[in-house]
Amino acid sequence: MAVREPEVGIKRVSHWIGGKLVEGKSGRSGVVWNPATGAQQATVDFASVEEVDHAVAVAKEAFKSWRQTALSRRAEIMFKFRELIDANRRKIAELITLEHGKTLPDALGEVARGLENVEFACGIPNLLKGGFSEQVSRGVDVYQIRQPLGVVAGITPFNFPAMVPMWMFANAIATGNTFILKPSEKDPSASLYLAELLKEAGLPDGVFNVVHGDKVAVDRILEHPDIKAISFVGSTPIAKYIYETGTKNGKRVQALGGAKNHMVVLPDADINMAADAAVSAAYGSAGERCMAISVVVAVGDVADPLIEAIKQRMPKIKVGPGLEEGNEMGPLITKEHRDKVASYVENAPKEGATVVVDGRQDPVSAREGFFLGTSLLDNVKPGMKCYDDEIFGPVLSVTRVKTYEEALKLVNEHPYGNGVAIFTRDGGAARQFQFDVEAGMVGINVPIPVPVAYYSFGGWKASLFGDLHMYGPEGVQFYTRAKVVTSRWPDPSTSKVDLGFPQVR
Ligand code: NAD
Repeated sequence: MAVREPEVGIKRVSHWIGGKLVEGKSGRSGVVWNPATGAQQATVDFASVEEVDHAVAVAKEAFKSWRQTALSRRAEIMFKFRELIDANRRKIAELITLEHGKTLPDALGEVARGLENVEFACGIPNLLKGGFSEQVSRGVDVYQIRQPLGVVAGITPFNFPAMVPMWMFANAIATGNTFILKPSEKDPSASLYLAELLKEAGLPDGVFNVVHGDKVAVDRILEHPDIKAISFVGSTPIAKYIYETGTKNGKRVQALGGAKNHMVVLPDADINMAADAAVSAAYGSAGERCMAISVVVAVGDVADPLIEAIKQRMPKIKVGPGLEEGNEMGPLITKEHRDKVASYVENAPKEGATVVVDGRQDPVSAREGFFLGTSLLDNVKPGMKCYDDEIFGPVLSVTRVKTYEEALKLVNEHPYGNGVAIFTRDGGAARQFQFDVEAGMVGINVPIPVPVAYYSFGGWKASLFGDLHMYGPEGVQFYTRAKVVTSRWPDPSTSKVDLGFPQVR
């Protein structure tokens, strides 16, 4: 965190409250880097308690009329928003690449997967249909309606600055809530552009607001009595803190945390296909994906040929600035993060692991910007930091086991349980794995099994705190509360006093 000093040529990223940009007044701000050059490219305002309070007050006021807006009108706005995102995919992707560093094709993929959530929310009239039971007793009907909660908030991570906010706000707004987004301070610009597009789509002012900031803003969101629910995506320690503090303050909370995703490769797997998948899923987006594969669990004799096939593919990965055509992997988010990732490779031999490929020696690691070459570790085991921790960088570990049972035990005993994959040609083994494995999202010959928007996304164990997964049907459930109405219209002349407990038959 830096104290703001006005600098010539450096962009300033401000809040978005009540349908317009609002400059921060706290005097505190953060630095937004260009990870491809290592230079500062913007400052981002950090909200004070009063500024968060102002945004919440605006959202609370907007809720009064937004919750009364017809479902068809809400859907119409979502459809228009969908069209605007579609038409401006490249601009959103460029904003992502500039601040995050991921390659432009990867950023376009992020926009596409975010867009799916907007498309899902376009169906809100259908999604909010309740149930109706006629004649539950003589002349008595029962029905359920789902109503919005009020002002809800989203706190999002740096690695998907457009998609993860869309995971949250598309359903939150469509269901009739008003929204406060606290994006990652490391790449805050995409969220502001989405805010502009929402306004252009016809969303009334105050329904969607963005406050930038750090712990001060987050803690105020956690405490504010007018915020009814919080969606969080980020690292596990913060997810746990958000869940514990938010629920203590009486809020509904879903908090998605970190990951360590295993890819189990059985002896009958196609080696080339498994190697292609492992390399793509480990090094795509420089490993900064919560669904990245970070451990290959090689079963039986598969380890040596698989490592060889992975090793052959690694030098072919084109690393460089995300906006330059042809590059497949960009830099890491900050210098500090790059150095932390590199420290896992440095320490691996001291822990007993073998460094097969050392990304620190790759010439790309010497470039300006926060680049680090791809690394491959072998003989990695539980108890080593490179196995236990989420590294969140371009480092792939291989753990050797003898049997399927050993592989399963390894996966199930890891504290994280976000995604997991199995590679095999044996349908029976795959089905058994799907039945046995303790993780929220399972890929069968699919290394990154991110569910489509009409399912819901979430891990198990230390990868999720709360009950409901994010987006899709569970997202609609999260942002609404059920009301069950029992009604009758009897002839008043039949009315009498009856102290018995109502029975239906
Ligand atoms: P992070 O936990 O550092 O930050 C997430 C958000 O929390 C940011 O908005 C940040 O400003 C805020 N924050 C950070 N420290 C805080 C503190 N002490 N108090 C209050 N708020 C705080 O995560 P990150 O580095 O931005 O993102 C990477 C992490 O997110 C990885 O662990 C990754 O696995 C995880 N992630 C998980 C999923 C998932 O779906 N499970 C998806 C994407 C990312």
